[in-house]
Amino acid sequence: MEMLETPLSKPSEGSAGITGYWRTFKPVINKSKCVKCLLCWIYCPEGTVIRINDSVDINYMYCKGCGICANECPTKAIDMVLEEEI
Ligand code: SF4
Ligand code: SF4
Repeated sequence: MEMLETPLSKPSEGSAGITGYWRTFKPVINKSKCVKCLLCWIYCPEGTVIRINDSVDINYMYCKGCGICANECPTKAIDMVLEEEI
């Protein structure tokens, strides 16, 4: 399985620890709605949307739950879900 990282930034631990712990809402990708346009990968400011072959996934260790990926997704394939609901 080939994993491709974003060219602009790499996620890393913040001064207050692993940034995934800061999250209130978690992006969940509905693969059946995803058309693999990669807009979420392009727009994620943290570099935590990862490309795996021709698909995308989320690096929950560092995703801060900002929701930009869900906002930009043209097919509404990403839902922001409260952490405790998962
Ligand atoms: S919620 Fe924000 S940090 Fe997390 S994957 Fe989406 S754009 Fe990136
Ligand atoms: S923006 Fe939406 S449709 Fe495009 S790759 Fe991301 S999840 Fe899939």
